[in-house]
Amino acid sequence: MPENSAETLQKRIEERLRYYEDLGIKLFYKNRSGSGLARANGTSGPAASIPIVSEEELSLRKPVSQPQPQSHSAKPPVVPPSIAPAGVSLFTDVQKIKDDTLLKIREDIGECIRCKLHKGRNKIVFGDGNPKARLVFVGEAPGADEDKQGIPFVGRAGKLLTQMIEAMGLERQDVYICNVVKCRPPDNRKPEDDEVSTCSPYLLRQLDTIEPKVLVCLGAVAAQTLLETNRGISQFRGEWMEWRGHKLMATYHPAYLLRNPAAKADVWKDLQKVMAELGLQLPKKSKS
Ligand code: SF4
Repeated sequence: MPENSAETLQKRIEERLRYYEDLGIKLFYKNRSGSGLARANGTSGPAASIPIVSEEELSLRKPVSQPQPQSHSAKPPVVPPSIAPAGVSLFTDVQKIKDDTLLKIREDIGECIRCKLHKGRNKIVFGDGNPKARLVFVGEAPGADEDKQGIPFVGRAGKLLTQMIEAMGLERQDVYICNVVKCRPPDNRKPEDDEVSTCSPYLLRQLDTIEPKVLVCLGAVAAQTLLETNRGISQFRGEWMEWRGHKLMATYHPAYLLRNPAAKADVWKDLQKVMAELGLQLPKKSKS
């Protein structure tokens, strides 16, 4: 069906807004009617009504419902230090939602069935900790214990993370802990690309709402998702990155440390950098 460019753009904007609304993101715009969409196209009204949608963005992003799910391998190569070039990021151009709160985000998730992970979950594992934390840990996905309790990092790996936090002179309630996907993948497999792309907007909103000074990505999935890179975590682990104005440190996942205890020394080095950034003193009991 022939369409002029304005009609095509409007149609694509409408699809994009429906996609975000399906994800529970309802505050990017004031009106999903034709008049509201027209404002996004600059034909009338304040352009700020739809701050996140641009023609360039629409050309680079595909709704999850389309038959070509994004895969990490299909993404453009990321330029070191692993922040995606402008215009190709899922996150870089997305503006913060005004007056968003963790409660609103949780309400928007609801009893989510937006990706296939809902089929096997027991509880959605949203996140836990201080909503104003200066330090946020982002993991990969809930495991069996987390799925039972609805709380992130409560299994063996979680206990190790708690020890790491306490070694930094903090308590779990001082920090915020969450995952890239909120539902447990079957058999604890790695989340698939379509699951990550469907669920990660909630993570984005959580991080934008908490506004931590430092983000620590636990493992490759969290780091590669936020930094939108295919690079192996060992290539940039322990280096400071920037993500939406926050300092980001990628380190190994506690589950990896359970399998490879020798890597604990590397992680502790990374956490000491985080402590220095946050002005935390090494607890005396940990000096020996
Ligand atoms: S993983 Fe995220 S997107 Fe998928 S069903 Fe759970 S909450 Fe919804």
